[in-house]
Amino acid sequence: MPSPSNSKLQQAAVESAEQWVIECPKCYHAAPALERGIFRAWASSKSKRILARCTNCNKLTLAKLTKDPVRAYSLRIDEYDHMLDQLDELDQSESSAPSIN
Ligand SMILES: [Zn+2]
Repeated sequence: MPSPSNSKLQQAAVESAEQWVIECPKCYHAAPALERGIFRAWASSKSKRILARCTNCNKLTLAKLTKDPVRAYSLRIDEYDHMLDQLDELDQSESSAPSIN
């Protein structure tokens, strides 16, 4: 069970992470840093570069971290939108697919 001070710290980390964008220097694919689970990375690094695998071009790269609250927010909305699209497709394919049992 986390102590109150720990969860406060965690909350602060999450709040600051929400403002960061991670960007692939190879294909320029950008994503909110928080969704990539890397929100602790820059605490120990001042370079604002992090070794990460890009989900778009699938290359290991020194991704660029940028503090950009507005962009991070709109990227998050885009991701949720994309997730909902996928759910929708899944629903449709399931309803038209033959049933095994
Ligand atoms: Zn990429």
